Amino acid sequence: MVSVLEELLSAADEAREPLAALSSVTRAEALRRVADTLDAAAGELVPLAHQETNLPKVPRLHAELERTTFQLRLLAETIVEGGHLEVVIDSPDTYWPAGGRPDLRRMMVPVGPVAVFGASNFPFAFSVAGGDTAAALAAGCPVVVKANPGHPLLSDRVAALVSSALSSTGVPRGAFGLVHGIEEGRALVTDSRIKAGAFTGSLAGGRALFDLACARPDPIPFYAEMGSVNPVFVTAPAVVERSEAIAEGYVASFTLGGGQFCTKPGLVFVPEAEAETFESFVAAALAGRVAEPLLNTDIEARYAAALGELRKHPAVRVLVAGDGVAPTLLGCDAADFLASRAELRTECFGPVSMVVRYSTEAELVACARSFTGELAASVHGSLPDRTVERLVALLSDRVGRVLWNGWPTGVSVTYAMQHGGPYPATTSAGHTSVGTTSLRRFLRPVVYQNMPQALLPEELRDGNPLGVPRRMDGVYRPTA
Ligand code: NAP
Repeated sequence: MVSVLEELLSAADEAREPLAALSSVTRAEALRRVADTLDAAAGELVPLAHQETNLPKVPRLHAELERTTFQLRLLAETIVEGGHLEVVIDSPDTYWPAGGRPDLRRMMVPVGPVAVFGASNFPFAFSVAGGDTAAALAAGCPVVVKANPGHPLLSDRVAALVSSALSSTGVPRGAFGLVHGIEEGRALVTDSRIKAGAFTGSLAGGRALFDLACARPDPIPFYAEMGSVNPVFVTAPAVVERSEAIAEGYVASFTLGGGQFCTKPGLVFVPEAEAETFESFVAAALAGRVAEPLLNTDIEARYAAALGELRKHPAVRVLVAGDGVAPTLLGCDAADFLASRAELRTECFGPVSMVVRYSTEAELVACARSFTGELAASVHGSLPDRTVERLVALLSDRVGRVLWNGWPTGVSVTYAMQHGGPYPATTSAGHTSVGTTSLRRFLRPVVYQNMPQALLPEELRDGNPLGVPRRMDGVYRPTA
């Protein structure tokens, strides 16, 4: 008997060419149909998501579903505009240095079927119909999703809605499928018909699947977005000026959604001289907070284990001991942080964060320098200040998003958004999993040399019949 996975893979493989051949307008229409279908089913989907994840229906799950369908529509708009194809045309030039130039016409094309691994903490936005699926379909790639075991019923229901919406718009059967099970996920990544993978979740999970993707006889790109502690650096002038406001913003950010965000600020660096006052403001802001249930018992057990490890570290002070899943505040000194970086930088997925006291600006800069790869980092400061200039420059080299006087939770879906960063935040620092650039992960460039017009894709033909933005002989032309 043919397994479910085999059926999905062979259907995805068959859908590869017809899906890539569909016009951007038709694919955009399909994405919008998916968005409309999901919006229309909100009354059914939100309670189901709540039942499986414990996340509050209002505002959280409703807002997350809205974000998910907005994302589908924004990507639809993006592919119709055509900038994602990155069309570049060089006309022949006998006198071009280095031996002349042939007629060269380059554009991005879909990579082929993509395996998507959804996260537990975003049952809509980073799951079955989430950003990775939307980006892959927008790029023209069939998708096989491995359902996150944290919300299996919701995954099935969303998948059924996505499939019916796609089939009503002429998208080939096989362009989308869903599979359950850890072994199925591993088989998916190692199957030669899969040409790229996308993942959101833990460092252990992402790394295991990335290693499988790289060890294939035909390695594929595997875009894993994994753990991050998103450090926050508070300068002395900033904390003297607005300690209480910073403490309140910090508490709101690290306790949001029960601390179950990959963008949670896990570490905040404050000057020693002001630390006691700052910590007391944080403790006061935490006093009114009630414990939110975590996503599931598995996540709760992992949180308890990771928190237990941190609490028993000799350098760590427990400043506010949350009962069970009530918010916890930890503390340590920068010198100890630098000495035990590997243990103290670990992501602890839940409502906990750590205040790190630094004694000099040089120590603060050394702490910033000690990070290798994070999704986001924030600087709270005032201008002019040479230290913040130094911090921003150092952090730009280490993270995907640098914030000024802000908090890292809340990642807007836009044109400029960058949600990624050097390892271990992701396995591929050159890409983003949020925003319109996210579909670049599922495209690759091909150049046609001296190709007759009739054999070229329409996007590359003379006269620009589809009106896509192009760079012609080095000059960018946003419209035809
Ligand atoms: P996860 O445990 O890493 O799982 C994500 C997906 O990968 C699941 O479908 C899972 O399948 C699969 N997977 C994990 N390890 C695997 C392996 N060794 N082989 C094959 N498949 C594997 O992520 P999660 O479910 O979201 O769990 C929460 C944890 O992830 C938290 O503790 C947190 O640290 C982290 N997290 C990070 C982010 C982020 O954006 N950076 C977001 C959410 C969560 P199975 O469960 O079936 O094994």
